[in-house]
Amino acid sequence: MADNYTRFVNGELGKKLAKQLNLPRPAVLRRYTPDAPLTVGPVLIVSDDASTADADALAKALLAWDVDVRRSTEGADDVRWGGVVLVGTSAESPEAVSESVLALGGTLRRLAGNGRVVVLSRAAETSDPPALAATRAGFEGFTRSIGKELRGGATANGVQLTGGAAVDSTSALGTLRFFLSAKSAYVDGQVLPVGPADALDDVDWEQPLAGKVAVVTGAARGIGAAIARTLARDGAKVVVVDVPAAGESLAGVANEIKGTAVQLDVTAADAGTKILDAARHVGGIDILVHNAGILRDKLLANMKPGQWDSVIAVNLASQLRINEQLLAAGVEGLRIVSLASTSGIAGNKGQTNYAYSKSGVIGHTAATAPLVAELGGTANAVAPGFIETEMTRSIPFATREVARRVIPSLQQGGLPLDVAEAIAFLASPVAKGVNGQVLRVCGQSMVGK
Ligand code: NAD
Repeated sequence: MADNYTRFVNGELGKKLAKQLNLPRPAVLRRYTPDAPLTVGPVLIVSDDASTADADALAKALLAWDVDVRRSTEGADDVRWGGVVLVGTSAESPEAVSESVLALGGTLRRLAGNGRVVVLSRAAETSDPPALAATRAGFEGFTRSIGKELRGGATANGVQLTGGAAVDSTSALGTLRFFLSAKSAYVDGQVLPVGPADALDDVDWEQPLAGKVAVVTGAARGIGAAIARTLARDGAKVVVVDVPAAGESLAGVANEIKGTAVQLDVTAADAGTKILDAARHVGGIDILVHNAGILRDKLLANMKPGQWDSVIAVNLASQLRINEQLLAAGVEGLRIVSLASTSGIAGNKGQTNYAYSKSGVIGHTAATAPLVAELGGTANAVAPGFIETEMTRSIPFATREVARRVIPSLQQGGLPLDVAEAIAFLASPVAKGVNGQVLRVCGQSMVGK
């Protein structure tokens, strides 16, 4: 649910007051509900001349999802676009993209509230001729900048094809669909690399995790509980793990989603083996979400050894050990998603220990990816920004209010559900081509990549 201020300025009186006083007016973000349409209106696909064939292939795929797809703005003066997709996959020089990006620009005033812009491009490779690399790389800064210009809960994200992946491959389409949908409500300004993966004939978009077993650590409350609920909603059988002290709330979550509760400290030497045993009782392990995490904030000058060591042990070393044990057991097709944080990317005062642990998560994810890929799996990380949880509720009111409203275009914190949706996507069969990546769920609050 949106925060109190966001609800207030979206009411009659609040709207007027905020306008008069020139106060921020964050939009109420649209979140996923099973029977709602994928987008809030028709989707326009624009492309440069060289990318027309890819644009046509995409249009075909979107039509199969019952989306009202348009290839031109002709006769669409009254349309409020639910999404605009820019295809720049075959452009070869920066000059060649100007017409299509400006055409996209011309549609933005008619983008609906909670509308979506998605840019499809190819990753620049060091082996590319410089002009081609420049053309491709340019789409990254472009996509992040549009994200900052949009209002009304609209977002802009990019699907960046790597390794020759086709624009209409299962993973490219799955990523496009995630970005177009309400499931990516708080994902903004992200450019996600997507590589080749086996095509899937039958994709169940409503229950993508049917028949899968997922283990979620730190699932007694907060983001972990939201992840467990979301994976269960998507059809998975879920094993929820947390420390014995959180046993009662853990049992509550397990009951609610008809899952299995396992009281376990993830720092235990045999945590990986225990997780594997518990999952095997319900059919094996397909998905592992490393969510358990703690904060022990202190300026480094005042940091006690216990404050540093406990954060590293829970947030980082436990993940390494558990992964090692599962890999040693030869678990096939394992989809690992680890919780990082924007603090681990941008840094944060008082959080050297936490930021070290979260940067470490990003590092081990990239290195784990090829190891799990050998067994048909993937390893990715999600980096949340400001999420409305018990943790952020403890921040003093004024600081919390500022933290929310300085977030460039969305002007609000995200919900645990938003993090959970990103994780459910990365764990799903269609995301097989996404490996070793970090997806931020931060409303583009962070400067940088
Ligand atoms: P939270 O404190 O509400 O929940 C964390 C859960 O992990 C708790 O249930 C706790 O009991 C459990 N846990 C802690 N140590 C454990 C251990 N040794 N073994 C098993 N379980 C353990 O935190 P949250 O806000 O829901 O955060 C969840 C994850 O998301 C963490 O990894 C956190 O670093 C990350 N994150 C949160 C935010 C945010 O804004 N809340 C932002 C960025 C990243």
